[in-house]
Amino acid sequence: MIDLSEFKTVGFIGLGAMGRPMLAHLANKLPRESHIWIFDVLEQAVDELCADYPDKVSKAMSARDVADKVDTVITMVPEGSHVRSVYLDPKNGVCSTDISNKLLIDCSTIDTATSLAVKNHIAENFPTASFYDSPVSGGVVGAIKGTIAIFLGCSESDPNLERLTKLMGLMGKQIIPCGGPSLGLAAKLSNNYLSGVIAIACSEAFDMGMRSGLDPRTLARVYAAGTAQNTICDKFCPVPGVYSEAPSTGGYKQGFKVQLMRKDFGLAVDMANRVGAKNVLGDVGLQTYDGAAKDPRCKDLDSRVVYRYLGGQENWQSKHES
Ligand code: NAD
Repeated sequence: MIDLSEFKTVGFIGLGAMGRPMLAHLANKLPRESHIWIFDVLEQAVDELCADYPDKVSKAMSARDVADKVDTVITMVPEGSHVRSVYLDPKNGVCSTDISNKLLIDCSTIDTATSLAVKNHIAENFPTASFYDSPVSGGVVGAIKGTIAIFLGCSESDPNLERLTKLMGLMGKQIIPCGGPSLGLAAKLSNNYLSGVIAIACSEAFDMGMRSGLDPRTLARVYAAGTAQNTICDKFCPVPGVYSEAPSTGGYKQGFKVQLMRKDFGLAVDMANRVGAKNVLGDVGLQTYDGAAKDPRCKDLDSRVVYRYLGGQENWQSKHES
């Protein structure tokens, strides 16, 4: 049994699609003596969760109020501007109260510059507090199952690594220290860039093969056996009906929203430009996800709907009766 007694008071800010199930794991797994204080600008989300866990979870009135009440704060909000506001708002932000000795963990996927700005602000004003970027991967389904991967912005020798691993291990499966501040985010953005590019390439490859007369199930077997093998083709196949559990087969409904892919892809391209990395697929990839995110046929659906956006055939079954 892992000793979790050090986590007597934990705060959670940002209770959306990811934050809610992550909070549920904490509420279910932290010891009986622990208490969780939560805040979201949407009061309804907070009230519902407090009603779900009346003995374990309580409502805070602001990010500052959460920070006042707990030793460890986890944040999970959409973008850099929200992270700035949650931490740096002079009236209601986490840093507007004394956060000395507290552990602060930001799981949002944002730009590295904002994350470093928050970290530096904390280091200057509260030298004994510790702030970490800790983005996650694995989607809402992974968050519900507790199987997300977590990319920590710290080194293997960080004094807080054990504490971070214990706590984040309640919500995810693989916890990977990425080397230092903001490198969890750099890892996450480069991962999503790669995954996004593969989904476009995969869609185009299926489309050209199918238009040439191939059954997509045959193509999937070929890719899996050949040098093109990859997880997007195998498990998240953009063509509906090839892999039963892929979001595409369920009408692209469950999965990683195309607008989030657009956001992460844009952040990755910005990062590549900032660090001087050559990036020939960046602009075209970004244009593609930007178009798909705005297209009413694709908006709000799983990002592999890029196959539809690129004109791929979805009703192929009639041609290839099994
Ligand atoms: P979401 O929009 O569903 O939830 C975000 C929550 O943050 C909302 O409830 C919102 O009200 C709250 N919020 C916004 N500003 C706030 C503020 N100032 N103070 C308090 N609460 C505030 O988003 P999500 O899907 O949960 O994603 C959160 C982060 O996780 C994003 O950065 C996203 O890129 C990343 N992420 C999402 C997924 C996914 O599949 N949804 C997967 C991996 C990573």
